[in-house]
Amino acid sequence: ELRSINAIRSTFLDYFAKNGHEVVASSPLVPRNDPTLMFTNAGMVQFKNVFTGVEKRPYSTAATSQKCVRAGGKHNDLDNVGYTARHHTFFEMLGNFSFGDYFKERAIELAWNLITKEFDLPKDKLLVTVYHTDDEAADLWKKIAGFSDSKIIRIPTSDNFWQMGDTGPCGPCSEIFIDQGDKLWGGPPGSPEEDGDRFLEFWNLVFMQYEQIEPGNRIALPKPSIDTGMGLERVAAILQGVHSNYDTDLFRTLIEAVAHATGVAPEGDRKVSHRVIADHLRTSCFLVADGVLPSNEGRGYVLRRIMRRAMRHAQLLGARDPIMYRLVPALVREMGLAYPELIRAEALIVETLRLEETRFRKTLERGLSILDEETRNLGEGQNLSGDTAFTLYDTYGFPLDLTQDALKPRGIGVDTEAFDAAMQRQREKARAAWSGSGEAATETVWFSVKERTGATEFLGYDTETAEGIVL
Ligand code: ATP
Ligand code: MG
Ligand code: MG
Ligand code: MG
Repeated sequence: ELRSINAIRSTFLDYFAKNGHEVVASSPLVPRNDPTLMFTNAGMVQFKNVFTGVEKRPYSTAATSQKCVRAGGKHNDLDNVGYTARHHTFFEMLGNFSFGDYFKERAIELAWNLITKEFDLPKDKLLVTVYHTDDEAADLWKKIAGFSDSKIIRIPTSDNFWQMGDTGPCGPCSEIFIDQGDKLWGGPPGSPEEDGDRFLEFWNLVFMQYEQIEPGNRIALPKPSIDTGMGLERVAAILQGVHSNYDTDLFRTLIEAVAHATGVAPEGDRKVSHRVIADHLRTSCFLVADGVLPSNEGRGYVLRRIMRRAMRHAQLLGARDPIMYRLVPALVREMGLAYPELIRAEALIVETLRLEETRFRKTLERGLSILDEETRNLGEGQNLSGDTAFTLYDTYGFPLDLTQDALKPRGIGVDTEAFDAAMQRQREKARAAWSGSGEAATETVWFSVKERTGATEFLGYDTETAEGIVL
């Protein structure tokens, strides 16, 4: 029988509960007390201080299904969405954790038993990577999984050495891959073709065993720890026998809702639009549920960019009226049980999406026709002028990355240097316009607002969120 995403999540958490782990709720997408991080991007984020010993919890092992967003910052998968079968901007990371409790051997054993006994994955299709010097992990994989050397790939790069930051806990990691068959393009991990779809990374086991005191000075942790992360959507694709996360039960439902709202079937080239809309819908809904609202700075601007990218794709599918807000109930039906915050915030989410799309629609069509006119004579490898990109940004509300995304299929770029220069000029003009007014106090206030928002885009009735983080 088919295992739904909801069933797989439960299987994972039940399995680790059965094995003595505390099941802990996902933390919010906006990390608490961590101004260095835009969004929660891994399961370990809520446990950072537990790993370093700064914070104590009443349990020493835990399991979670963590909401993650990777759109901005060190991990940015925004440009992958719609183009790879395995990346989302929002996804769920399933993880088990040991805070100085079990280490490598138990972690590998628990992982191996879950994927081969509970999930019944074919052993002969599985392979792993280890950090090139980590003989201990390689030997454990041989012993526990019965792998030959050819199934244990030694990787010398940072892909298999995890660090929290320049200092702090760190250690080698071991990633589990599945070979999805030679009908798909791609090579094994570590090879130049590894980004193809054939060999799919789905679980990362991190062995935190050192502490980086300063550059070049690493000591062994007295109590090594474990941090793992498995992409729920990826493992669902594997278990449901499909090659794309977007063909799993949850995404099929969302994509159907998009097709229903636009009247356009997900076929041919247009499929990309359905996928982007489905992905960005999830991200937008979960971000709003966690208190982020579209704005012109920081997290709110990342949300706005994601929303507007989806809205442009809705336009591509022929939508003439806002549609995003109409898709919300389908998502809440699918995910509301696991994440009740979606149910609680549903009215706010619907209203936020409706307002944002109504607002963007005032300028979207005109902006797109300018984009068309200005790129009519451009071909692959050429650039749209920075001034036009800036006009689209400043007057028509097109975030730069939306313009870039729109031109990407045609191989056209944007002159970003000229874009930045235009932005700078506009700031200086604004500064000059105020000089000599004699109202220094007002000027300073107005000016700092201007600096923060960066644009005079047509959004007179905008809501700003109070956030200190600037992109
Ligand atoms: P990839 O190399 O495919 O980009 P990653 O190495 O960046 O993945 P990790 O940081 O190791 O990913 O995260 C642990 C797991 O989370 C991955 O093995 C994968 O299953 C899942 N994952 C990571 N990024 C995404 C994403 N953007 N969308 C869906 N799942 C993801
Ligand atoms: Mg990645
Ligand atoms: Mg990887
Ligand atoms: Mg990885």
